[in-house]
Amino acid sequence: MADKRSFPTGVGVDEARSRIVEIATERMLPAEHVTLEAAGGRVLAIDICAPFDVPGFVNSAMDGFAVRAEDLPASAEKPFRLLGQIFAGGDMAPEVLTDTCVRVTTGAPLPRGADTVVMKENTRADGEHILIAPGTASAANVRPAGEDYATGDLALKRGMRLTPARVGVIASFGFAEVKVARRPRAVLFTTGDELVAPGKPLGFGHIYDSNRFSLGGLLQQHDVALLRHARLRDDPIVLRDALLRAGADADIIFSSGGVSAGEADFLPRLLAEIGEVYFWKVRMRPGMPFLFGKIGGALLFALPGNPVSGVATFLSLVKPALQAMSGAESRGAALRARLRQAIRKRHARTEFQRARLECDAGGILWATPLEKQGSGMLRGVAEADALVVLPEAVSEFAAGHVVDVLPLPGWPG
Ligand code: AMP
Ligand code: MG
Repeated sequence: MADKRSFPTGVGVDEARSRIVEIATERMLPAEHVTLEAAGGRVLAIDICAPFDVPGFVNSAMDGFAVRAEDLPASAEKPFRLLGQIFAGGDMAPEVLTDTCVRVTTGAPLPRGADTVVMKENTRADGEHILIAPGTASAANVRPAGEDYATGDLALKRGMRLTPARVGVIASFGFAEVKVARRPRAVLFTTGDELVAPGKPLGFGHIYDSNRFSLGGLLQQHDVALLRHARLRDDPIVLRDALLRAGADADIIFSSGGVSAGEADFLPRLLAEIGEVYFWKVRMRPGMPFLFGKIGGALLFALPGNPVSGVATFLSLVKPALQAMSGAESRGAALRARLRQAIRKRHARTEFQRARLECDAGGILWATPLEKQGSGMLRGVAEADALVVLPEAVSEFAAGHVVDVLPLPGWPG
């Protein structure tokens, strides 16, 4: 048996996270081209500059009439001869001359000679003429070329996650494809002799495998490409074969269960034998038995089987690794809230409590921890908006204390 002491155990959460990010950063995923239809949610692998001015031509910001500013009436309504019209996407319009106008719609190129658009609402028709009321400023309702992006502007930075608006910007530059980080290919194992797939009958002492979905869903939400899932028995030979195979074709292996110190917890020993353990056990609650290692070409995140432990370790330790591997910009602990009630922590680990979030009328975000905090109770996660982080150095938290918040998928809705 390999020496279990040859790797660190009982590391702090911050130390565990830095080590994970350090190792994950060395395994940056290569870039690939995807079509814009498939680009949403992916991480941009290059900087994107505007290849031309957007908009590309001076155009009307309103439906109305294009005129020369110098002809605008100072006090009384004034007639302008209507020369023609140009709609968005339409053909060339006649040139606007003294005291004439051309009908335009929003987005139409501004006709030659014109420099101002009078809103339709400030005009009325009178035979061949359009009567224009005073009040329109010189150059009003005209969008200059390049007012959104000028040629060469740095528009999107490498590492940005592609939101719908960012994909829209890329489309506005005329690109049909974009270079993004390849998604990590992952294998998920849920392990335990007691586990049964939903839809099948339960035997004595059996439970349904909920982690396959609570963890699998988190992977999906975090842009991980799941190569396969397997439900495995607590059998070292089965585990060994499955791990070796996954180490040959995955970037990341996620396992749930079998990583504590029980009789049927084979993972730590097995991994020390056929792979490498970077560390085992983190000073956190829930989630203490978490193990981080590698096998073949894959990083291995062995999450404890307790449903809440899996979620807490995923959000605090796995998510930063996924960001590092795809080169995603990290916002760190971007979200904080005040505790609605006092908490006394009875242990010296970092605690992740399930909480509801609510923003008051003054703009303060409040976190109310839920009553059911057991690490086996998925209900706590299902009813929560976020996990609040109670750091290990502090044991008394007064009401109003500001804590870091890890939002759960689905919040704020
Ligand atoms: P373990 O980490 O294997 O010691 O499991 C800890 C607890 O989590 C036990 O009560 C298991 O029955 C439970 N558990 C393990 N895997 C799963 C799973 N996939 N779905 C639901 N509960 C699980
Ligand atoms: Mg187990």
